[in-house]
Amino acid sequence: MKKIIPLFSGSSGNCTYIRYNDEEILVDAGVSMKMIECALDSVNTSLSRIKAIFVTHEHTDHIKGVEAISKAYRIPVYINGASAEYAVENGIFCETQKYINEKNAGDSVDLDGIHADIFRTPHDSCGSVGYRFSFADKSSFGYATDMGYITKTTAEMLFGCETVLLESNHDVRMLKNGPYPYYLKHRILSDKGHLSNDAAAGFLPYLYEKGAKKVILAHLSEHNNTPRLAYETNVEALKNAGISTEELKITVAMKSVI
Ligand SMILES: [Zn+2]
Ligand SMILES: [Zn+2]
Repeated sequence: MKKIIPLFSGSSGNCTYIRYNDEEILVDAGVSMKMIECALDSVNTSLSRIKAIFVTHEHTDHIKGVEAISKAYRIPVYINGASAEYAVENGIFCETQKYINEKNAGDSVDLDGIHADIFRTPHDSCGSVGYRFSFADKSSFGYATDMGYITKTTAEMLFGCETVLLESNHDVRMLKNGPYPYYLKHRILSDKGHLSNDAAAGFLPYLYEKGAKKVILAHLSEHNNTPRLAYETNVEALKNAGISTEELKITVAMKSVI
């Protein structure tokens, strides 16, 4: 049995649940433990069954619940060294320290039936990574959010994945005309910011060509995007490349399953 369920997605918190047979893991835990408990309950599982938390980087919307969850349930946390160091130095990780397994870009982790390869993503945090999870049934799932652009390595790690969770953060026009201060707009649009709808959309035909069957658009901005706009921009790009949504299924990870 394989399940990939984005429980929370967006600038207010991210958490994705993955199950392969008896192995259940989370990628990021950027909302409270209580919220993740409720979300997991709604998909008929619980934190007591989670074997590991894979963290992308140290921003609050990715690690908010990590300390409480790993402490309460004694769950190993895989996180890159620079993000871990920041979280420890700033008191975000206290007791969690004993559950930390530092894993950096280029490293991999083997669990029962799930193999994780780690790759660097360009983002304005101390460290930032994405994951390619390969399952015993030979299928793969790529997870890449919080990145200013798609690097060659990121593209290579996502190629061949049957399912890809890809950032589609903002609509460039909405961001430019929106309420954010100049420095924040500049940060988001920079090479170390977030991936726009147009940038995600431009990458979809390549993902399809390399074997993707499903793309989950994720980490949508609450102020500079809408689920409809993200979906339509991405579908339009597919259409222009002569690919139908039956050939490459597009879904949008909503804020929460609850
Ligand atoms: Zn971030
Ligand atoms: Zn984020």
